[in-house]
Amino acid sequence: MFDKVLIANRGEIAMRVLRACREMGVATVAVHSTADANAMHVRMADESVCIGPPAAKDSYLNIPAIISACEITGATAIHPGYGFLSENARFAEIVTDHNITFIGPRAEHIRLMGDKITAKAAVRSLGIPVVPGSDGGVTDADAPAIARDIGFPVLVKAAAGGGGRGMKVARTPEDLGLAIATARAEAKSAFGDDTVYLEKYLEKPRHIEIQVIADSHGAVLHLGERDCSLQRRHQKVLEEAPSPALNAEMRASIGRVVTEGLTRLGYLGVGTVEFLYENGEFYFIEMNTRLQVEHPVTEMITGLDLVREQIRIAAGASLDFTQDDVVISGHAIECRINAENPRTFRPSPGLVQNYHAPGGFGVRMDSALYAGYRIPPYYDSLAGKLIVHGRNRNECLMRLRRALNELVIDGIETTIPLFLDLLDEPDFVNGDYHIHWLESFLARD
Ligand code: ADP
Repeated sequence: MFDKVLIANRGEIAMRVLRACREMGVATVAVHSTADANAMHVRMADESVCIGPPAAKDSYLNIPAIISACEITGATAIHPGYGFLSENARFAEIVTDHNITFIGPRAEHIRLMGDKITAKAAVRSLGIPVVPGSDGGVTDADAPAIARDIGFPVLVKAAAGGGGRGMKVARTPEDLGLAIATARAEAKSAFGDDTVYLEKYLEKPRHIEIQVIADSHGAVLHLGERDCSLQRRHQKVLEEAPSPALNAEMRASIGRVVTEGLTRLGYLGVGTVEFLYENGEFYFIEMNTRLQVEHPVTEMITGLDLVREQIRIAAGASLDFTQDDVVISGHAIECRINAENPRTFRPSPGLVQNYHAPGGFGVRMDSALYAGYRIPPYYDSLAGKLIVHGRNRNECLMRLRRALNELVIDGIETTIPLFLDLLDEPDFVNGDYHIHWLESFLARD
């Protein structure tokens, strides 16, 4: 096992990794920007190193500074969390070249899945069903004919996409030119790559993703699904597991397709295969080669600590459970508590005057907040994640209302009121929603 792990991240996910390390008896190194000198992850870690000024490109994305921090402190492994460098294949290679273990998948798989066009082609060849669409990137000239073959509406997507950016719907052939031009411009400025491809636009699908975990001894297992259909601007807002739309047989069947495919690929570590699900069919959209924000709902229903497993796998250990040992128990829901106005979603950084985390049976709060902490304006607005578990979905919803009412974050605006509103919505309570439901709910008043 590693003696010391460097956590190349901040906020709640840095805390999450730090906690797992501590339970395993592994020492921790936090890295931080000058803006995060007083952050909780810095206070909690055994050691910390300042790696640059506030802008992420100069600190949390500063590869030489992170490698130096490892060398100075003698950390022998790096956990990248999610976001920042977690899906940067070059970073994984540089880490390995410095004889440091990258706690994550192989660089070749990060690269393969990082480009959505190569990912789709690869996944299709592994026997996993994909969304109908163009075979690769499209030119402005051949797009109209390809779109006609797919059938309108079509979705224009960026090959390098992420965070819902570079995605535009064309409902008719007349819309296509503008949709491609806007998607290209957005993709160029966000990712420096304006390659776009076309996909059939699904009208009312659910977003259902399968959590996988694979060790270096050939075991590839799935830990069931998460339903992440509650989204705003293609970004997840609330996630739950199991999905209200699947039963045990459907879970086992899609789980088998995914694990067989990833076994052929030789995948290592944790990963998530994302699908849209409509009329009983699964359609692959992308794979994330990292831990996801919403991983705790899977942990709550399986009892497995995914970060601990990531660290063990990276150290060469075998999974100490089999597919048959993975038992889904009860129901879990996660709310992303963002420092944002609950209606306009405008970021609301600033001083947290008072903070009280909910507790009690079945309640988990993953956050790096504390009273007196000033949320800096430079990073994303995730202030914490409230995760609740119950024996069934109904118990989970009752517990969620109780926990949301106990949660106090004073001084900034948060999305807590949105979740309380959702608990009064029959469609949400009945689990009867799709990926566009939340936006129509928000547009209602
Ligand atoms: P990103 O990497 O930017 O998050 P994804 O490919 O994961 O992009 O898609 C994000 C979300 O966009 C999906 O969860 C879904 O809501 C929507 N989406 C993606 N592809 C389609 C599609 N073909 N039809 C309808 N909605 C889609």
